[in-house]
Amino acid sequence: MKRKKLIWHLYPSYLFIILLSLSMVTGYALSAFKHSFLRSTSGSLKDKAILLKQIIQPFLESPVRMDEIDALCKQTGKNISTRITVILPDGMVAGDSEKNPKEMENHLDRPEIRESLQKGTGQSIRFSNTLKKNMMYVAWMAKTDSKIMGFIRMSLPLTELDEVYTRIMFRILLTGFLISLCAGGISFLISRKISQSLERLKEGAERFASGDLHQKIQLSDSIEMSKVAEAMNQMALELEAKIRTIRLQQNELDAIFFSMTESVLALDNEEKVLNLNQTASKLFHIPLDSARGRPVHEIIRNADMERFIKKAFAGTDPVETEIVFREGEECSLQARSSLLKNADGINIGILIVMNDITRLKKLETIRQDFVANVSHELRTPVTSIKGFIETLKNGAMDDAKERDRFLDIIMKQTDRLNAIIEDLLSLSRIEQESQKGAIILEQGDLNKVLDAAIRNCEKKAEDKNIRIIQNEKKGIVLKMNPSLLEQAFTNLIDNAVKYSDPGKEIQIQAVPEEKEVRISVRDWGCGISREHLSRIFERFYRVDKARSRKMGGTGLGLSITKHIVQAHGGGITVESTEGKGSTFTVRLPLKKN
Ligand code: ADP
Repeated sequence: MKRKKLIWHLYPSYLFIILLSLSMVTGYALSAFKHSFLRSTSGSLKDKAILLKQIIQPFLESPVRMDEIDALCKQTGKNISTRITVILPDGMVAGDSEKNPKEMENHLDRPEIRESLQKGTGQSIRFSNTLKKNMMYVAWMAKTDSKIMGFIRMSLPLTELDEVYTRIMFRILLTGFLISLCAGGISFLISRKISQSLERLKEGAERFASGDLHQKIQLSDSIEMSKVAEAMNQMALELEAKIRTIRLQQNELDAIFFSMTESVLALDNEEKVLNLNQTASKLFHIPLDSARGRPVHEIIRNADMERFIKKAFAGTDPVETEIVFREGEECSLQARSSLLKNADGINIGILIVMNDITRLKKLETIRQDFVANVSHELRTPVTSIKGFIETLKNGAMDDAKERDRFLDIIMKQTDRLNAIIEDLLSLSRIEQESQKGAIILEQGDLNKVLDAAIRNCEKKAEDKNIRIIQNEKKGIVLKMNPSLLEQAFTNLIDNAVKYSDPGKEIQIQAVPEEKEVRISVRDWGCGISREHLSRIFERFYRVDKARSRKMGGTGLGLSITKHIVQAHGGGITVESTEGKGSTFTVRLPLKKN
């Protein structure tokens, strides 16, 4: 159906009604006027005919005085401006005001004469061949007793009627035209007003539909339209409030979704990405926007993952597995999947939640390695002690010299066992306390700590003729746990002494900087080759196991030192060249004023 503007529905209808009613009124008025004109004309003609009948009737009595009748007709007709014809009962014209009666044909067949023959009076409107005009004829029968004496016919041309009729019709039409013009204009304005009100409603509805709910619809002056506009404005208000609530909820959900530490990935039934969170986007190195809508195998290329997704889609139960990504930095994920359902409970895909368990795995490996290392470390002295005890039992007890030597060895191995256990205990204590934040730090003098550490190693150093030199002592005060820090520096100085040849020197220097103090322990000993440097702070890591053991080392000293320094909020680094010596540098934060 062809659609047009409302105004083009309303306006033509209005116009049609106006024109129809106007033409009906005009038609009725014209026909009423015509009838009244004809009625008054015929009435006046009848009155004249009655009057004339009185005058003419004596002339009709026999013998009929034709010439006198004709003369009377001509005289009277002229006086009253009406055509008068007198007709005899046989139809012959006896006199006529306009024509010579002798030249006129028989008039008995004229409709008005025939009618008056039956009813006494007759009337007819027709075109007169004699006068070549539209005429109104009124005939009156003249009779005495039962004898018809003739007919008096009065006639008037209707030209005047036609003229008046045309004039009136023209005036009515002109007035009608002006009225229709005004009515048309008014109806156009009304239609336009209605149309504009509706147009405003339509624009408002379109604005609301496009999301602009702030601009309200203007109220019009019609009650109905205003009610509609008010209802729509109210609807917009409620809609806005609902949208605000939904947005708020959406933002909350988004915030939760995006701040989750787990990687979350939602896939549709065609294995395309519906959504993913920040963590997943970082994990798979793919921007959030470019991932949505793409097939999952395009953004995650991993055989384990593909198998997992297939399995998750195949069943209805949650699937759980471990997936290892070897691209770039190796990472292990604990992946869990569950079916994704919409509000109607229809399955629309799957939801995968992945936990990065790389750190856990590493910790697990470290733990396993640690247990293996501890067992290995403990097994050596235990095996040795057991071996020597067996040897003693098998007879070596009898030889006093051998017995003393073996007992010395057993003693040494027991000391070693003790040292390992002591170091392990102190390492685990430091670790636990630092994790709990239970290590008490208080303001202390760094020089006092360094002096104590040097003192602890003095004996060993003297035995090897090694000089420990401390460069420019400056009063440095920082937050510390003095006994732990003393242990840390003792380990470093002890190592320097252990791994230096006799007669060498050890330098200790504390340099305060803006935010921290750097304490270096430098030796000119055997040094550490490059490949070992990154690992020497690990538990039980030793460059030369035999040498370390000979020196009474447990392989835990540097590890303990590192933990103590870290518990103080600092760090430790090492620079070393094999055969030339090493420098261990500890950085400790200075208290901010
Ligand atoms: P250890 O008890 O064996 O000394 P540490 O943890 O103290 O254990 O040291 C780990 C390893 O680092 C040592 O076995 C040794 O090989 C190396 N090391 C530590 N300090 C020095 C140093 N000053 N010079 C050379 N090597 C060192």
